[in-house]
Amino acid sequence: MFKESWAFEADIQEANSVHEQFEPTKKMGVANRSWISTDVNGNLEKDESKQREKWEGDKVDPAEASLLNKLIRCALVSGRHEVEVLQRDPMSPLFSVKTFEELRLKQDLLIGVYGMGFNRPSMIQEKALPMMLAQPPQNLIAQSQSGTGKTAAFSLAMLSHVNTAHKWTQALCIAPTYELALQIGQVMEQMGKHCPDIKLAYGIRGNKVERNSHLQEQIVVGTPGTILDWCYKFKVIDPKKITMFVLDEADVMIATQGHRDQSVRIHRQLTKDCQMLFFSATFEEAVWRFAEVIVPEANIIRLRREEETLDTIKQFYVLCRTKEDKFTILCDLYGSMTVAQAIIFCHTRKMASWLSANLTKEGHSVALLSGELTVVQRASIIERFRDGKEKVLVTTNVCSRGIDVEQVSVVVNFDLPVDMEGNADNETYLHRIGRTGRFGRRGFAINMVDSKYGMDVIRQIEMHFGKRIPKLDTQNVEEMEKQLNCC
Ligand code: ADP
Repeated sequence: MFKESWAFEADIQEANSVHEQFEPTKKMGVANRSWISTDVNGNLEKDESKQREKWEGDKVDPAEASLLNKLIRCALVSGRHEVEVLQRDPMSPLFSVKTFEELRLKQDLLIGVYGMGFNRPSMIQEKALPMMLAQPPQNLIAQSQSGTGKTAAFSLAMLSHVNTAHKWTQALCIAPTYELALQIGQVMEQMGKHCPDIKLAYGIRGNKVERNSHLQEQIVVGTPGTILDWCYKFKVIDPKKITMFVLDEADVMIATQGHRDQSVRIHRQLTKDCQMLFFSATFEEAVWRFAEVIVPEANIIRLRREEETLDTIKQFYVLCRTKEDKFTILCDLYGSMTVAQAIIFCHTRKMASWLSANLTKEGHSVALLSGELTVVQRASIIERFRDGKEKVLVTTNVCSRGIDVEQVSVVVNFDLPVDMEGNADNETYLHRIGRTGRFGRRGFAINMVDSKYGMDVIRQIEMHFGKRIPKLDTQNVEEMEKQLNCC
């Protein structure tokens, strides 16, 4: 079936001849690819170091992406998941709960849970909560994508675990950044708001403690560096008295070597009886290795998300000469389609702001998202877009992974996704336009090709996904509408 795609060689040739003018050399080596981006005036950006700098600036920081997700999310993620449970002792019965009542929580805590609008446990909570609350305590490694209820689960476990008669720290949670620790603490505060005897302290920079003054708070949530200081330098927490240890966002944690080492040092001082709980949104090899160090003899719960595919997406490419050309075509396309909401990806911040300014001039309601904004500003822009306050979101790559807006029906690659070497970035392409099969509604992906090199990228994407990307005939409006509207 894929062979077919090479029957459109004529298109490519056309693309090649149209864009010959862009090609500075005939050789398409890596070193020659710094020209792939044009600046706002259509001039080619030849300064590779400048180019690289922009790339760096737009790199997705995993801690930021995670925080962004937390800030914009106000409900569990939808989508199909499959739960896998691997019990340390396969002979022990596997408990699963369908209601929070079954957990026999303290009444005040249950009121807090319902007060947050949680009617029933999420899929991961169904399995994880009984394990986390079991007696004798059990260790747990849990992996599921962000937004599936992990934070709420371990927050509940920590609140339920502590003995309020004891005025010392018993439950400790570490997270990779100041902001993430704050977010977790806020969930606990909200959930435990009817439990006045449970006290919480934030082990984060700026929070001063007096040397040797024992903390009275039963729960501490913080970052590894400060927690380490509180345990060793200031001795306000006695690690031997910690009976529940939670390591959250393990995948983000190991992205920083220092955090990983600090976490291991904290962990080393805990007793063998301390219950260890380990959470991660992803589970690549390095996370497993880290988990093995932190959590011996663990039960393992994994929530597999149905994979994203391009099956329900109609993909096209359009040929353009200049950025103005792209802009005109974009406006024409908009006129020819019924678009609920669209996301447009640009390669550089400059291009994104040029495009959003021009779209705004044309009367579109546009939101612009790019790397120079703070995380909180970005979250608020995504939130507005999610709520439909703006219909078009223009963005650089920086936030694409944080965005999960279901009503987006059109994704436009104003600039094609390429990696640092200038090759097609297939993973990013899938992230931008992919949908999970069963829940995926039909969508469109329009790729703007402005050079022979761009055509090469399209070819690589086609090859990778084994799916032809036809050319959209933008010269012929009638034909274009036919192409867009046929199923
Ligand atoms: P994760 O830590 O996996 O990213 P969270 O615990 O932050 O997920 O939960 C994601 C969102 O879902 C939050 O807005 C949270 O308040 C909400 N949530 C969590 N558990 C439930 C539940 N059982 N019922 C309804 N909403 C929930």
